[in-house]
Amino acid sequence: MNRDGENIMVILSSPSGVGKTTLTKKIQQKYNTFRISVSHTTRAPRSNEVDGVDYHFVSKKNFETLISENRFYEYAKIFDNYYGTLKKNVDDTILLNDIIFDIDWQGTKQLSKFDNLNLIKIFLIADNKKELKNRLIKRAQNSKEEVEKRLKSFDEDIKHWSDYDYVIINKNLDVCFKQIENIIHNFKNKLLISSHKVL
Ligand code: 5GP
Repeated sequence: MNRDGENIMVILSSPSGVGKTTLTKKIQQKYNTFRISVSHTTRAPRSNEVDGVDYHFVSKKNFETLISENRFYEYAKIFDNYYGTLKKNVDDTILLNDIIFDIDWQGTKQLSKFDNLNLIKIFLIADNKKELKNRLIKRAQNSKEEVEKRLKSFDEDIKHWSDYDYVIINKNLDVCFKQIENIIHNFKNKLLISSHKVL
């Protein structure tokens, strides 16, 4: 993993349905230095998802082979499926670009163990659980059972907020986006100052 460059890594974690995917896409659209890390998963694709764009969809057997070959920087089992970030993808991307990771708290813990990363960890939460439920149902991409499973994991997920550098409550997507932009700008400025490029 490139640890000396000035490109940065931003982790955006949240319980399902809080708006993280929309926000990561907005960041990438506005800032052409950013690339979204495309994870590997054993979950089935949703109707609107494209292999290689939203995820690399692989079989459980393939995923377990990648684990045994130590090819992931981090991986986790979430809702009975594996999700993980391949080392090679990160190593290639960070040479030229900043990276946004849409990963859970388990992956965040694993990535945090690497030293000297220019890493910002942001945790997004919904302002209330009822609103979250409505969003998950409206999204209509998950079965009723999956919605229930994801809501249950909300309580577990939010226990991990203290592992993050920032916690943002997503009441309004535009406000939330602005807050994330400010965090990124400040972090990049600090890096520039510490590398003596700005005095
Ligand atoms: P979904 O099935 O809704 O796309 O994602 C479920 C959860 O998996 C989300 O919380 C998402 O952040 C997390 N996730 C997606 N990719 C990865 C990954 O590569 N590693 C880890 N640890 N979590 C991931």
